[in-house]
Amino acid sequence: MMEQYVLGYSAWGRPVFCEQSGTGRRRVLFCAAFHGSEWITGAVLQRFLTSFRRRPDWQAQATLWAVPWVNPDGAALAMGLLPTWSPQYIVSRAIGGSDPGFPFTWKANGRGVDLNLNYPADWEGAVRVKSPHGPAPMNWPGPFPLSEPESRLMAELAERVRPDVLVTLHAQGEEIYWQYRGFEPPEAQALGEAMARRSGYLLTEVPPASSRAGYKDWFLQSFRRPAYTVECGLGVNPLPLCQLDGICARVLPLLETALFGENAGDDCNFSLPMV
Ligand SMILES: [Zn+2]
Repeated sequence: MMEQYVLGYSAWGRPVFCEQSGTGRRRVLFCAAFHGSEWITGAVLQRFLTSFRRRPDWQAQATLWAVPWVNPDGAALAMGLLPTWSPQYIVSRAIGGSDPGFPFTWKANGRGVDLNLNYPADWEGAVRVKSPHGPAPMNWPGPFPLSEPESRLMAELAERVRPDVLVTLHAQGEEIYWQYRGFEPPEAQALGEAMARRSGYLLTEVPPASSRAGYKDWFLQSFRRPAYTVECGLGVNPLPLCQLDGICARVLPLLETALFGENAGDDCNFSLPMV
């Protein structure tokens, strides 16, 4: 069973797609491209979906909800897809045009809100710690928690699906974050360690400045089920497309482990899809 549908629309009216596939008992939610300049993670998750569609054995064991492009406006802007004469480009240039990397370094959504600081998990703390106090290319937590359509869509999806595990893909650092103030369940560490083994990424603690108001933080606080932020790749965002194969070689096995749990076994061979 495979179904694609529109969860809702972004601040600039782009559809946010979800693909639901599989019929298995284990319920899994994967998402990517919360941050515009980390669009490479959307491509990573699309590749995983290509594999999942071809594996009836996986589909029998798990039901997967995947949202590869949580922030389609920010991704379009950071990919350089918006014409410079478009109203959206002009508005965002007024917000972030002083950044020499504009528009390619843009992380926020179309309204200048950092979606991964927009969740009600010590959102007030994020406002205190982060410096911009208004629309910005990155790091503004927004006017209030869940102020943005994209963050609300993802919260609603998690509440509807109530997945057994959540993985959200970001770009930068080759690390896996799994904790939020003791809300992580005890079994989350073992699964995180298995994901670290399969990928070679480091299972570690979140840097203090970023340890609140994220989607995974809110998910852990709300559901107390395993949730992971995976920081794919290394370098300077936006990571170049030539890193895609290398990142997939490490992150696709990691996602496979998350799909089946820590006992999936290190012997299962992940083959890269020919796309
Ligand atoms: Zn990110």
